[in-house]
Amino acid sequence: MPMYIDPHIHLVSRTTDDYEAMHKAGIVATIEPAFWLGQPRTEVGSFKDYFSTLVGWERFRASQFGIVHYCTMGLNSKEANNIPLAEQVMELLPLYVGKEGVVAIGEIGYDDQTEAEDRFYRVQLELAKEVDLPVLIHTPHRDKKRGTTRSMDVAEEHGMDPGWIIVDHNNEETVKEVLDRGYWAGFTIYPHTKMGSERMVEIVKQYGPERIIVNSAADWGISDPLAVPKTADLMRKMGIPEEHVQMVTYKNALAAFSISGQMHEDDWLKAPPIDQTKKMSGNSVLRGGQVPRVEGPSDRVEN
Ligand SMILES: [Zn+2]
Repeated sequence: MPMYIDPHIHLVSRTTDDYEAMHKAGIVATIEPAFWLGQPRTEVGSFKDYFSTLVGWERFRASQFGIVHYCTMGLNSKEANNIPLAEQVMELLPLYVGKEGVVAIGEIGYDDQTEAEDRFYRVQLELAKEVDLPVLIHTPHRDKKRGTTRSMDVAEEHGMDPGWIIVDHNNEETVKEVLDRGYWAGFTIYPHTKMGSERMVEIVKQYGPERIIVNSAADWGISDPLAVPKTADLMRKMGIPEEHVQMVTYKNALAAFSISGQMHEDDWLKAPPIDQTKKMSGNSVLRGGQVPRVEGPSDRVEN
């Protein structure tokens, strides 16, 4: 059974049914970028608790379903526009970027391409350099082409190495420049609209599998936490070689984010079996009367 990594998924918004389905579909590891919650936060304490959840409870919750959870830390571009709050978040961030399982600074970049967004994007690029972490760039949905180019221009102004940057939410308009300039190119599969699996197949056919990374970016909106394995299946059906399928749905994500030193294949190949009797600070994923799932060594296929 092939293994997959979903390198962009907002799991705090997803259910345990999603976790079970993802595990069953072969997703072994996930990366959860810090982002916004659908409505703006009003206090720095909300960021603090959110960041703590990403390195704490959500990491534990994923492990209870056999999935290794990593995250990226950063102030998203939308909320960068609340300048007084953003300044406080910048003071908080350094306390979280060194935590276990933090594989990048992100998702950062531009939304409306305002002055404030530009300011906090630059501050966070400097933070990434300081702590030796790769960067996950969120490219804007409006005026995408210009915003994507600008994200890379500014990163280079700050002396960043393109090999340390994953430019996300690409489409047919942006992919060529991103690859030509030496960056990793992330693609989000949006069900029903925009960037669907079919278009992803065409992109891999045209550009090949080098430095291309597929993700679901599943969150609280209409999205599909199985987008990565589903796209892989479609690629196989459309005749893309297995080696290429594995590069864009597993190997490239591992290569890009393992630069952080926080992500290793052994994290899942040698993971302890699922044990839902475990608790974190006295809390478990089980509700009254449910039977915990406890995997024996024989439940796992040796790799
Ligand atoms: Zn996202």
